[in-house]
Amino acid sequence: MNVGFIGLGIMGQPMALNLVKGGHTLAVYGRRAETVQPLEANGATACGSPRDVAAKSEITIVMVSDTPDVEQVILGENGVIHGARPGSVVVDMSTISPSATRAMAKKLAEKGIEMVDAPVSGGDIGAIQGTLSIMVGGKPEVFERVKPVLECVGKTIVHIGPNGAGQVAKACNQIVAGVTIQAVAEALTLARASGVDAGKVRDALLGGFAYSRILEVHGKRMLDRVYKPGFKAKLHQKDMAIVLREAHQLGLALPAAALVAQQFNAMVGAGEAELDNSGIIRVLERAAGRGMVEA
Ligand code: NAP
Repeated sequence: MNVGFIGLGIMGQPMALNLVKGGHTLAVYGRRAETVQPLEANGATACGSPRDVAAKSEITIVMVSDTPDVEQVILGENGVIHGARPGSVVVDMSTISPSATRAMAKKLAEKGIEMVDAPVSGGDIGAIQGTLSIMVGGKPEVFERVKPVLECVGKTIVHIGPNGAGQVAKACNQIVAGVTIQAVAEALTLARASGVDAGKVRDALLGGFAYSRILEVHGKRMLDRVYKPGFKAKLHQKDMAIVLREAHQLGLALPAAALVAQQFNAMVGAGEAELDNSGIIRVLERAAGRGMVEA
């Protein structure tokens, strides 16, 4: 199938490569040449704009950073909406606002273009391995059309409901991921401050009810103090802001999510926006003093 891919960052790059491996003809757009070259080397066609990508594609996938970026790529000058044919589908796999998603789906529908929101979980490792969990919002028949393409990048693919429902599921995912990462950071900080071997604490916890993939992957990054992203702190900060905005609109108290949002605010404010989200432990270490945080 002719598939388009826009946004070739930490996630987009390996996802696009998996689509080529899956036998699809790929048209790509990336803002920076160095992100496009590896795809071209694997047989993808580089395009000059999101509009050009959409003109070549039955399905156009978007994987950029934040809500304004998706709006620019889809609705902006030289955006997808100006190139996509009626009947084609836009699949937004970025994590963005559910309400903005519904509004974009409506604008695309006015031109006969279908849209599904299909945000993912599973991190850079899941993107490389093609094992992402994908949460889809949109019409059931459109979901069925895009499913074979999504199967090239993901393993668990769930149709949640209408447009925006996929993004709501992803917001739910980010509450669990965010609160867990904070819990792991607190546990390892307590171990270290007590003079106990934090690595052994993690080993023990991995075998009991405290097990989580986050304790495994992010816990290891915290132990090694290696914060190469991964998932940039500024993006998790953005996700917690989405969660709290939705909660605000609904008149809902989500106290643990609010706390995690503050920790990411502190991390980004300390100049660590580009570090992996496991670096959230550094906020606790700075507060703890006693030389716990490395420079
Ligand atoms: P990333 O490495 O920062 O990549 C984002 C890409 O989007 C970059 O290539 C960037 O271009 C491009 N981009 C941003 N704004 C753009 C715009 N206005 N026009 C054109 N291109 C634009 O981020 P990522 O980790 O791949 O994350 C992408 C999305 O997936 C985010 O919504 C994130 O929350 C979500 N996500 C990430 C993970 C993870 O573990 N990393 C997991 C699940 C979901 P430049 O290269 O020019 O900056």
